[in-house]
Amino acid sequence: MSEDFYDVLGVDSDASAEEIKQAYRQKATEYHPDVSDDPDAEEKFKKIQKAKQVLTDEEKRQAYDRMGHDRYEQAEKHGFDASEGGAGAGGMGGGPFGGMGGGGGMGGGGLGDIFEQVFGGGGGGRGRRRPRKGRDLRTELEIDLEEAYEGAQKQFTVERPEECDVCEGEGHPPEADSETCPECQGRGQVTQVQQTPLGRVQQTTTCPRCEGDGTLYSESCDECRGEGYVRNEATLTVEVPAGIQEGQTLRMEREGAPSPEGGRHGDLLIDVSVRDHEEFEREGDDLQYRLPISFPQATFGDTVEIPTLDGAVELDIPKGTQSGETFRLEGEGMPRLRGRGHGDLHVQVQVVTPESLNEEQREALEAFAEAGGDEIEVNEGFFEKIKRAF
Ligand SMILES: [Zn+2]
Ligand SMILES: [Zn+2]
Repeated sequence: MSEDFYDVLGVDSDASAEEIKQAYRQKATEYHPDVSDDPDAEEKFKKIQKAKQVLTDEEKRQAYDRMGHDRYEQAEKHGFDASEGGAGAGGMGGGPFGGMGGGGGMGGGGLGDIFEQVFGGGGGGRGRRRPRKGRDLRTELEIDLEEAYEGAQKQFTVERPEECDVCEGEGHPPEADSETCPECQGRGQVTQVQQTPLGRVQQTTTCPRCEGDGTLYSESCDECRGEGYVRNEATLTVEVPAGIQEGQTLRMEREGAPSPEGGRHGDLLIDVSVRDHEEFEREGDDLQYRLPISFPQATFGDTVEIPTLDGAVELDIPKGTQSGETFRLEGEGMPRLRGRGHGDLHVQVQVVTPESLNEEQREALEAFAEAGGDEIEVNEGFFEKIKRAF
């Protein structure tokens, strides 16, 4: 099945080269056959590469835009030269690389377009135009560290424009009278010629009167006031992959705003933030945990239980451990997003100095100090002194 290259990458047809590259990187990571668990990953990955290859090459992209998906693929299969005379590529200068603009450098790439605007309108000018994709929408989603660890299906609500039920997105009742828009003669677009210091520049924009519809209606829909869509609260569920990091963005394809021109919906972008955890601090795929131990534990060594996000594990504290020393528990950190394995858990030991001692402990510690030859000037608090006086 052939699928539009813009759809494959999930970008608007007027996306910049940079946006296309960015979308490619994201998709390529998502569907890389080595890491994706999608059974069709390899197929999708190939499509993504193909789409990128065409859309990031300015000449190819122009040809693609001009010819449309199917004809482009055909032309590619049978050779572009052959298609030039054949297929009837849309009037004058119908070569895939833009007629006049083709051949040499392709410069600003505009000549072919202007050519088409001037001469292409006669017949199928409008039909050839790709309907603009709906807007992408953005929302935020906060998850727990545990959810980032396990991966989660998160339900959330988002307010978004949706097609109006009453008029089915038409913006007018079905019985409304219609007339061809006099401003654009039904083309939906108007062309303005501007005189600039660089010469005449043609600009084609959506007709302001009919908003691209080409038709005016005697009534508009009461429900949506002619907009064709209303704002609704939608409840959606997103698959949050294990290992997701703070600030990463998930994309739900076609869950964004509807296209005002009947094209595909925009996407919904979900900015994920991960709530701070009480016990663990995250650094990339690694986790940090602070472990308080006593002076005797540090001195004699001990085996202690360390919590992880996947149950407790044991850690051997060696004799003579210093405060601040860090032990690495390999593979006990966060799973690597779309990769294999886990990061590590770093356990940083903090030797806790007792803040109050009972008599027995105090004496033992004094004896310890004495045995080591330390002379300590005990710095007693004021109240301690008073207590001792009685
Ligand atoms: Zn409506
Ligand atoms: Zn119009």
